[in-house]
Amino acid sequence: MKIFNTLRRRIEEFKPIKKGFVGLYTCGPTVYNFSHIGNLRTYIFEDLLRRTLEWGGFKVKQVMNITDVDDKIIKKAVEESKIIAEITVPYTKAFLEDLKDLNIEKAAVYPRATRHVKDMLRLVASLMAKGFAYQGKDKSVYFEIAKFPDYGKLADLDKVALQAGSRIEADEYNKEEARDFVLWKAMKPGEPSWPSRFGLGRPGWHIECSAMSMHYLGSHFDIHTGGVDNIFPHHENEIAQSEAATGKTFVNYWMHSEHLMVDGQKMSKSLNNFYTLRDIKNRGFDPLAFRYATLTNHYRSKMNFTWEALEASQNALNNLRFEIAKLRMSSAKAPRHPSETETKLVKSFKEAVENDLNVPEALGIAWQAVKEKNLNSKRKLRLLLDFDKIFGLGLANIKKPVIPRKIKAIVKKRELLRAHQQFIQSDVLRNKIEALGYKLEDTEEGPIITKK
Ligand code: AMP
Ligand code: ZN
Repeated sequence: MKIFNTLRRRIEEFKPIKKGFVGLYTCGPTVYNFSHIGNLRTYIFEDLLRRTLEWGGFKVKQVMNITDVDDKIIKKAVEESKIIAEITVPYTKAFLEDLKDLNIEKAAVYPRATRHVKDMLRLVASLMAKGFAYQGKDKSVYFEIAKFPDYGKLADLDKVALQAGSRIEADEYNKEEARDFVLWKAMKPGEPSWPSRFGLGRPGWHIECSAMSMHYLGSHFDIHTGGVDNIFPHHENEIAQSEAATGKTFVNYWMHSEHLMVDGQKMSKSLNNFYTLRDIKNRGFDPLAFRYATLTNHYRSKMNFTWEALEASQNALNNLRFEIAKLRMSSAKAPRHPSETETKLVKSFKEAVENDLNVPEALGIAWQAVKEKNLNSKRKLRLLLDFDKIFGLGLANIKKPVIPRKIKAIVKKRELLRAHQQFIQSDVLRNKIEALGYKLEDTEEGPIITKK
């Protein structure tokens, strides 16, 4: 399998550290609000990656953090006179519901930052002991980037001013400059805090991902992912902290998905140009129509969100479901061996997905299979359900429709009329069937009825 590694800016053959196993860390949400569909695009990309690895025979252990303490959460809690858990618990629940609606496979673990403060403090202490960190007069602890010569290797920072010694203590900060960044933030009045040898305080955002990924996947693991905005400073800082502390490589492959855009701008909470999955559902769309839309764009290309495109995806998904329902109705017997046509389709599908997740091409191949006249219906069904292990459109749940006796009787009568060339009357019956909520299609194997 070939994947694009941001670290070296090229497509590389994926080689796991341990044969047959992949350790995968995916940066998760900060739970102070609903995820927007841009965030969800990134989580779908990560799900496609995981499913492709699994389809290729790897066992994958995925870890996704939940950031349940940070500046934005604290600000919201203060504004609403709540304790932070009153904000983070319901939004974590909503986030997990979104994943379920989108058929995103469950990670092995969703560690909460607040439950791993000890791991983070241990990491900070080790950076301090090795001379990579210092405590400022404000009592916060900072990582000294000048001490880590490799700083900038992920984000290719040549053009970015390295401002060692000038510090930044907020979770959100200037993305143009690299500065000493905060590892442990000294407590401010009214903020939640934990005791430590550096005094009362709370962890910075970056340290949490280093500490939790190493806790669950070991100090050296295979793949770390996020959206492109995570490259700098978040992932750059993760590399610095982790490699400075352990003295060895942290992660072998870094993968990043491009943004979901609206009118040429990144979808984001700060620009207030975002939609949530709830908005999509409220407009009558199936959440999986959004998933389908993401499949039609390569993860390293920007994807433009429009309601028209979503509508087109909903229609395509409905058509695909209809095709599956039709195949389920077929009474054809499956030959034991694949035909040459099927073997060719499988080969090109595998080549597409294993070529840096070319899912749009793989989706095209699935449609080619749908339209292929030279494929036995039973084998075609099996093939499409196998492809869907990667697409995740829930096609396996499309069951053979249960057709009421009344409808079956009308269909039988219509067949009789057709056999006697009485097409005007037979069309009247077709309309009746449609009016009762069923769809009828005449095929070589006879009429096929599905629920509309
Ligand atoms: P955040 O909650 O801002 O940390 O974002 C969660 C994840 O969504 C991160 O991996 C981000 O890189 C990603 N992300 C944020 N905005 C977008 C967007 N417009 N399109 C795709 N991914 C995004
Ligand atoms: Zn992270």
